Amino acid sequence: MKFRLRSIQKKLLLILFLLPALIAQAAIGYEVSAPEPHTHYYNVKMRVTDYEKDYFDIQMPVWSPGSYLVREFAKNVEGLTATFNKKMLRSEKINKNTWRIYAEKANNVVINYKVYAFELSVRTSFVDASHAYFNGTSMFMYINELKKEPHNLTIIPFKDWKKVSTSLPKIEGKGFQYQAPNYDILVDSPVEIGNQDIFDFTASGVLHHVAMYGKGNYDVEKLKIDMGKIVEACTDVFGENPNKEYTFIIHNLTNGSGGLEHLSSTTLQVNRWTYEGNKYKGFLSLVAHEYFHLWNVKRVRPVELGPFDYNSENYTSLLWVMEGFTSYYDELLLYRAGIYTEKEIIRKFQGSVSNIENQPGNKVQPVAHSSFDAWIKAYRPNENSYNTTISYYSKGSVVANMLDLMIIKNTKGKKNLDNVMQYLYSEFYKKQDRGFTSAEMKSTLEKVSGLKMDDFFEKYINGTQTFDYSTVFGYAGLSVETAVNKDPSLGISESNNKIRRVNRGSSAYVGGLNVNDEILAIDGYRVHGNIRDFIDAKKVGDIVSLLISRDNIIQTMSFPLLEKGTTSYFIFNDTDKKNNVHQKWLSQK
Ligand SMILES: [Zn+2]
Repeated sequence: MKFRLRSIQKKLLLILFLLPALIAQAAIGYEVSAPEPHTHYYNVKMRVTDYEKDYFDIQMPVWSPGSYLVREFAKNVEGLTATFNKKMLRSEKINKNTWRIYAEKANNVVINYKVYAFELSVRTSFVDASHAYFNGTSMFMYINELKKEPHNLTIIPFKDWKKVSTSLPKIEGKGFQYQAPNYDILVDSPVEIGNQDIFDFTASGVLHHVAMYGKGNYDVEKLKIDMGKIVEACTDVFGENPNKEYTFIIHNLTNGSGGLEHLSSTTLQVNRWTYEGNKYKGFLSLVAHEYFHLWNVKRVRPVELGPFDYNSENYTSLLWVMEGFTSYYDELLLYRAGIYTEKEIIRKFQGSVSNIENQPGNKVQPVAHSSFDAWIKAYRPNENSYNTTISYYSKGSVVANMLDLMIIKNTKGKKNLDNVMQYLYSEFYKKQDRGFTSAEMKSTLEKVSGLKMDDFFEKYINGTQTFDYSTVFGYAGLSVETAVNKDPSLGISESNNKIRRVNRGSSAYVGGLNVNDEILAIDGYRVHGNIRDFIDAKKVGDIVSLLISRDNIIQTMSFPLLEKGTTSYFIFNDTDKKNNVHQKWLSQK
């Protein structure tokens, strides 16, 4: 009896198991080519099979994760057509980034469109006669209902382009054919096509591919060693590396800067002569930054950042953790890897403190608000941003620095910020496979440090109070001294005598100078890019008389000079000794 029942159950299960296989699974594939690369167009052929609907909608993302700005990628799409067995299907645009395809239950719909691509940034797409590079968010339209299904990609390189670099899993033995497990991973895997230099290295048990586009003064053997050190320093923070392989795409350009993080790859854009001296350390810091992100933001993430809504802004108050902590570690890890000396790393921390404390916006915008408003403020700065905003990168890195020292102090050297990162990674990513909330970030800090964090969050995360630097750096036996600049100053930024920024509270601000005013003369003397010389020759309280052009109308203005009032911070060790907190904070292997 028991046996018979089991047998029926087994048969039922078998039928249930086979049923989905009998019903054809809807599938999406893309084919990308650029037959005339010098025109900067990609041809995208999107094939939707076994989806048999009266109609369905395809959508182009409006933004690219990691870069918090609505970029409207649909603006570069043209000539969209849909066919079934070469017969034209009706399609129409129903909003700025959505096309409705009247498929009439066809089981094989082919959608062709072109994408104009002439923006060589890490977050967009580009093609010219020398190479092609794209981010899927600016190339591939999606069907919302099918985003979790596998997405195939076939790349047809132009003429004698021989190489494709991407972290997408390759379909074995099938040329440049790839399969992403879902849409998110498809568009999180940028692609470089051309004849780039490729080299590999293994570090922390992970095979790393490096694709170099563009000439530069790099030394491959040196890069393998130094990038390997950074991989190991990053991996040590979290205790494990979730990738088997990882791809660096590096664009060496005349005016390159920036990077964008992905799950199993990154794109870096650098000046082609960056590979020597201090500039090289800056490059390695960028490598550390983007590599650290493969955990922090790609896996360890706020609940709002993944799965993504590609259709609109995804607001989070936690970019001070995602970008700020990453900015702290991108310097600290260079020290741990033996690339910075202790003097250099402390100078970096000192620089970060001076940086934020002298920006008027630091007293206006809490760092949690800076995160939340990234979409309309950090990514859309104007001439007044310096007065009203603070970067979640620089402020967040100072927050991380403070927290690191507070945790070490309160746990008597047993724990540090690494333990916070490890907890976030194991608890929310590995165990629960989800993002965390601001409240969970706070409770994690409390759990690791043993401190109550209400006051800290109120004052420094949701408020704009100044840290007690002397006390916190004092935990590590360091002294903090400050010096206020009492020299006279106009308090402007200018280029070619034209005002670009007026600092809040400065002489120019109080006296009524405007952005775009052109300073022609000071005290009756014509100025030629030497405004500073005139101001330096005066004292605080002296009246300065300016001849300016405002909208081409000449006028004079007079006002008293105020002192510059900026504060320089000096952080130093009085002795050669390191106390326990210092040792836990800064030590090399
Ligand atoms: Zn970043």
